[in-house]
Amino acid sequence: MQNVRTRYAPSPTGIPHIGNIRTALFNYLLAKNQEGEFILRIEDTDQKRSTKEHILTIRESLDALSLKRDEEFIQSERLDKYRKHLEILKGKKIVYQDQKAWRFKVDNDTSQIQWNDLVHNQVSFPTNVIEDFVIIKSDGFPTYHMASVVDDHLMNITHVMRGDEWISSTPKHLLLYKAFGWTPPLFVHLPPIL
Ligand code: GLU
Repeated sequence: MQNVRTRYAPSPTGIPHIGNIRTALFNYLLAKNQEGEFILRIEDTDQKRSTKEHILTIRESLDALSLKRDEEFIQSERLDKYRKHLEILKGKKIVYQDQKAWRFKVDNDTSQIQWNDLVHNQVSFPTNVIEDFVIIKSDGFPTYHMASVVDDHLMNITHVMRGDEWISSTPKHLLLYKAFGWTPPLFVHLPPIL
């Protein structure tokens, strides 16, 4: 059986709010309940909005709650990995350049993208509502979609647990998994805290 590995992947663009902390806590609890690993991944690919101070606040908030991480990664230190994976997609001819950015070409042959979400059960999106999306921005940094799929795969994440606001990103992520020929993790989309 594969070891459970979860991740908390905040963007250091603001002070962690209750929704972030709930995501961190649930990921921690799932990993530890299964004797697995809990990973902190700082998603600082938005260079204009990310700050060092917010990275410190993220770490402090986890420490204050004793949510001990087993590993930590920072996406801006992993740019070579995203570039290498862009080359793989170029080789497969499923990306194209648009101005200076790179877009993923959405294959309209598959009419629906579906997955079995551990909270929502069967979720499905028609592909015709998904535009050819940017994976590498004109500044050379990856977008959230590209970086999170490459990292979730390379970090052997078994459960992607995050807020419901990311549910409409999941079909794009599944298209990337398919393009790379990778098995996707399990998806767990949590309702907002009211
Ligand atoms: N960086 C995203 C956030 O700030 C992470 C979303 C995800 O967990 O995939 O919430």
